[in-house]
Amino acid sequence: MSRYIFVTGGVVSSVGKGITVASIGTILKSRQITVSVQKLDPYLNVDPGTMSPYQHGEVFVTQDGAETDLDLGNYERFIDINLGTESSVTSGQIYSTVIAKERRGDFLGGTIQVVPHVTTEIKERFNLLAEKTKAEVVIIEVGGTVGDIEGQPFLEAIRQMRNDVGRDNVLYVHVTLLPYLNSTQEIKTKPTQHSVNELRRIGIQPDIIICRSDHPISQEIRDKISLFCDVEKRAVIPMPTVPTIYEVPLVLEEEGLGQLIIDKLKLKPRSSDLKPWREMVNLIKTPREPVNIALVGKYVELKDAYFSVREALHHAALHHERDAELNWVPSETLENNGDDSVLRSAQGIIVPGGFGVRGIEGMVKAATYARENKIPYLGLCLGMHVMVIEFARHVLGSKKANSTEFDARTPHPVIDLLPDQRGKATKGGTMRLGNYPCQLVNGSHAATAYGQSLVNERHRHRYEFNNKYRKQLEAAGMVCSGLSPDGNLVEVCELADHPWMVASQFHPEFTSRPGRPNPLFRDFIGAAKDILREGAQPPLPLSSERYK
Ligand code: GLN
Repeated sequence: MSRYIFVTGGVVSSVGKGITVASIGTILKSRQITVSVQKLDPYLNVDPGTMSPYQHGEVFVTQDGAETDLDLGNYERFIDINLGTESSVTSGQIYSTVIAKERRGDFLGGTIQVVPHVTTEIKERFNLLAEKTKAEVVIIEVGGTVGDIEGQPFLEAIRQMRNDVGRDNVLYVHVTLLPYLNSTQEIKTKPTQHSVNELRRIGIQPDIIICRSDHPISQEIRDKISLFCDVEKRAVIPMPTVPTIYEVPLVLEEEGLGQLIIDKLKLKPRSSDLKPWREMVNLIKTPREPVNIALVGKYVELKDAYFSVREALHHAALHHERDAELNWVPSETLENNGDDSVLRSAQGIIVPGGFGVRGIEGMVKAATYARENKIPYLGLCLGMHVMVIEFARHVLGSKKANSTEFDARTPHPVIDLLPDQRGKATKGGTMRLGNYPCQLVNGSHAATAYGQSLVNERHRHRYEFNNKYRKQLEAAGMVCSGLSPDGNLVEVCELADHPWMVASQFHPEFTSRPGRPNPLFRDFIGAAKDILREGAQPPLPLSSERYK
């Protein structure tokens, strides 16, 4: 039977609860303990698919096509597992299931209540994941902060679990913030005490408190939290802010969190091997020559909107012993003869995914720049649409070429809905989502990158490359280098007469891992790193030696 670790957050949001959960997973996995993870999101949306990236950051897509919170991306990257639909639970899903059951008459005339009906439905999701994955430990993150109205049913459900599956099989971890007061130069524990009180009020006594702080936490502070919050001294674990998120598992392991979990859950003691992880973190912290990448997108003000893209670029740069220096370019600033000086220092240009017409012309301009100046270009989903539109306009000379997403009346719809998609106007549930196989064309950049001919990558889009233009585009120098196995869908395209201009209909960023970058990202940085740009100098002889 699986054991459960429930992780709640206190004081404020964004203290790093998701990274803590991911790190606990890393620590357990380093002891050969199998883990799975679930995120409970208290909002009423059924999934984050229809939420603006400005509000919720990136929508992460699992291999089986669930649109989820970006925390799932961190779980996958840290623990190196592929999660599925069962790992993402929202209040919206829970309530719609309960109401559907009621409509079907499943409750035989009973009065439907939050306790027990909603909480039972929540607990069924815990069981579902445990049963499907058979993981020794299931880690469950409760989104939001203790005290939020929407989070109450989730907290009540996790409280009930201690009785349901036995006290030794459940662990409650509370992640809080210890604020620092500049005027008195001290760390305050009161907000943590309050949030633990709030938890206790609903019947949950935390076993472990993880304290995030920007300042060192003294033993005295730890003792105080232990006393007031009634947890063992060794179970008050500091989590200082560290230069890279990948260092968090090491910090927590150092503080004894791994052993503590083993003891509390009475798991078989196993030694931990975090050596490869430590080596990776050391490499991340070693100064490296930068490779300057311009990320031209629509939501760049909020970096979380491109979380996986940013991580994938870092993984790829690390592979080449470089540091990805990202220039976040709001695509609108490139429009209408806008200043493109930012592109002049870029060794590579990346156009990530996105929806809607705003900023598209700026992205097209970035693609023109990359094509004409032979700057490596990686297009991700929308970035592929942009590349095809650009090529059709400026190489084929079809000036009004566009995607029907942006111009429904374009005379040259090089990107369009598939015929059977037309008429399905609603936003929810009409996208191509999750893994699809893709056959790569021998000798192409894409095939060289992957080193294999059949790959599976994750999708999230509605519009597709329009086959009516395939012949024309190919004759002009575009290579359709990745196709669906039946040959009908263009999944990757690239330019013949260019050092490295490649774009995929799928999102390769979702499968990138630290230590195992996605091949397209890896080769994109590989091509970009040797490009010399305005104001740049060739690497010093010393370092060129090192980076050979
Ligand atoms: N907006 C485009 C589509 O729906 C691209 C989506 C994306 O980039 N994820 O097809």
